[in-house]
Amino acid sequence: MTDNRNPVIGLLGGGQLGRMLCEAANPVGIDIAILDEDNSPAKQAHNTNRHVTGSFKDPSRIRELAAQSDVLSVEIEHVETEVLEDIEKNGVEVKLVDGSTKTHKPPVHPSWRTLRLIQDKYLQKEHFRASGKNIPIAEQVAIEPGPAALESLKQAAARFGLPLMLKARKGSYDGRGNFKVSSEADFEAAIQALGGLSLYAEKWAPFVKELAVMVIRTEDGNGKLKSCVAYPAVETIHEDSICTKVFMPPRGVSDAVCEAARNLATEVIGTLWGRGVFAVEMFLLQDDSLMVNEVAPRPHNSGHYTIEAVPQMSQYKAQLHAVLDLPIPKKLIPRVSSSIMLNVLGGATPDAHLELADLARSTLDEDMDVYLHLYNKASKPSRKIGHITLTSNSSIQDLEVKAKPLIDLVNKIRH
Ligand code: ATP
Ligand code: MG
Ligand code: MG
Repeated sequence: MTDNRNPVIGLLGGGQLGRMLCEAANPVGIDIAILDEDNSPAKQAHNTNRHVTGSFKDPSRIRELAAQSDVLSVEIEHVETEVLEDIEKNGVEVKLVDGSTKTHKPPVHPSWRTLRLIQDKYLQKEHFRASGKNIPIAEQVAIEPGPAALESLKQAAARFGLPLMLKARKGSYDGRGNFKVSSEADFEAAIQALGGLSLYAEKWAPFVKELAVMVIRTEDGNGKLKSCVAYPAVETIHEDSICTKVFMPPRGVSDAVCEAARNLATEVIGTLWGRGVFAVEMFLLQDDSLMVNEVAPRPHNSGHYTIEAVPQMSQYKAQLHAVLDLPIPKKLIPRVSSSIMLNVLGGATPDAHLELADLARSTLDEDMDVYLHLYNKASKPSRKIGHITLTSNSSIQDLEVKAKPLIDLVNKIRH
């Protein structure tokens, strides 16, 4: 445990989300101890002697991290929740300078209960359904394991129609555990592609847009919900199931729908446990109704724009404040009229993105501010290796026109 007066957050995972968390922590003297491989993107951004080398799935390393942290948090939901539960309940032994030992029990935020629930996308949505909060979700059914899977998928197709989405219940990200089943000819390939994983089928959501809302969740001293404060709604564009662009405000979506999205997100996060920022991914349907796709219990790609666009607090600073129980603003209002976030994804060759980075660096425009973030990750096809945030005081439509050269390059790298 720390004898340093700066608070220490022990973070499982050291990718780009952890890196941007460190960038928010550095100027305000918050220490972040990261459990991940040496030289991971987050470790590069924060110098401390508390980093732990190893896998964030390794219980013994997690205990080592806990021993020197005031609170434990995550930058990724795919972690070992059993050890987190045990640490919070029973603590870890820490050695004091006089040689004696004491039990140290750092809390875990968001709660290990939330992480465990969210890890299983099927159970996550069953929880929302059962919450009594009228949270709309796509119809879903668990797929039988093993040899019965094919028959089970056929039954799901008979029930939901085609196309449907076959999904891995656990461990997926950037759409890697999803298989769109468009016709009966896809049944075997779908089961084979996701073979061995625990699966569920989801009715196809014929959405017109995807929206996302970040929510900051706080609790009182007794672990009861204190507040949920929502960031503005954004429009997310996914191509091949990976988020490529984010628009704030959403294009062609009424204020009333954006408000409804924020209210729904607040309801959803109210059903979970622990403090922190959460992303609620939603589908907007033709009739302006909303459906919850999934929740991420951490800072999120759709909230990167808050670093430059929301003056009260970015999603990263909000995560620091929520996890450490520091004050949270009552309102989160952008300082600009519009913002676009473009993901820099690895292209077919390791240097495919360099032209885009060059253009972002060299664009100077009185009506559009350009902020380039590179995560210092090796480039691989479709890997998130950076992002560009654009902000403007013109409309989102005008900003999109201004941003065309950058958007065109983003599209070119993918194709
Ligand atoms: P993330 O990186 O956001 O964690 P993930 O791997 O968990 O992604 P999902 O969010 O389940 O995957 O799905 C990825 C994308 O696939 C969605 O954003 C959406 O574009 C599409 N999608 C998912 N479910 C459905 C559905 N039921 N109907 C239509 N499209 C869907
Ligand atoms: Mg997901
Ligand atoms: Mg998703």
